[in-house]
Amino acid sequence: MSTIGIVGLGLIGGCLGLDLRSRGYQVVGFSRRQDTCDRAVSFGAVDGASVDPSILAPAEIIFLCTPIEAIAPVVKQLQPFLDPNTILTDVGSVKQAVVDAATPLWSNFVPAHPMAGKAENGIEAAQKDLFVNRPYVITPVSSTPEASIAKVEEIARSLHSWVYQCSPADHDRAVAWISHLPVMVSASLLGACSSESNSQVLDLAYKLASSGFYDTSRVGGGYPELGVMMAKYNQHHVLQALYAYRDRLNNCIESIENRDWSGLEATLEQTRQIRDRFFPPENRY
Ligand code: NAP
Repeated sequence: MSTIGIVGLGLIGGCLGLDLRSRGYQVVGFSRRQDTCDRAVSFGAVDGASVDPSILAPAEIIFLCTPIEAIAPVVKQLQPFLDPNTILTDVGSVKQAVVDAATPLWSNFVPAHPMAGKAENGIEAAQKDLFVNRPYVITPVSSTPEASIAKVEEIARSLHSWVYQCSPADHDRAVAWISHLPVMVSASLLGACSSESNSQVLDLAYKLASSGFYDTSRVGGGYPELGVMMAKYNQHHVLQALYAYRDRLNNCIESIENRDWSGLEATLEQTRQIRDRFFPPENRY
């Protein structure tokens, strides 16, 4: 039975651990705090965990599941404890910055991003099968070993994810639209709603909020650190997406101010068709 290591026993590390253990792997974890290690073991996410990186020595492949800013420092920290053939792969939501910082430190590094998440963070939010029928993007560079890419792909497929490959730059540009922009938009939506000055009306809005608002507010109500990391490490692409979004919002305002109902309808018809491109009816959840 081969051994897999997980560094950073939070939401994503915990989800991976639960799934990999259920696929028959021996899973060992390393995290910063002893309490987190203990909770990950009792949660069943890992077979064993420690704040001592030497626990990872037997692992053939190690998933780096810390916040983005900690990924490269962790690679440096692990270096003395690992066999040089060990595959390191990360799960960071931004790729170019991680690739630039981590590739020079470990030649057998496979940058990747499982595209699934939850509003909560931490080990207690972990669940089985989070990655089923979700994209798992691998963003290799020319020096990334083919055999290591194949190994990460094999594991991602065993999680029943859809595996894709693209460059780190293309990844960051694409996820700015479909992941990072939605966080900022959804957060702004929540902020705008809370600016209602009549407390009775606001209270009523809290009570009447239903499925539509649940869907549109979910990613804006997530934990703040993740959104800040997206903006900080993908600043250029996030800003381009936000500027484009602001233009669209202004067009919407203009149509409504001018009572241009046919223009508004044409826009909404167009966006209805665009949504089908993202989520064809047979692929909705
Ligand atoms: P999380 O629940 O906060 O987990 C991160 C864990 O990393 C924490 O439990 C923390 O444990 C540990 N950690 C922090 N610094 C560390 C260090 N220097 N050394 C070892 N462990 C350290 O966050 P998450 O949501 O799982 O996100 C983790 C990564 O997944 C991020 O890179 C993020 O971009 C990526 N990601 C997130 C999502 C999402 O929706 N949440 C989706 C896809 C990818 P301690 O208590 O021990 O400090």
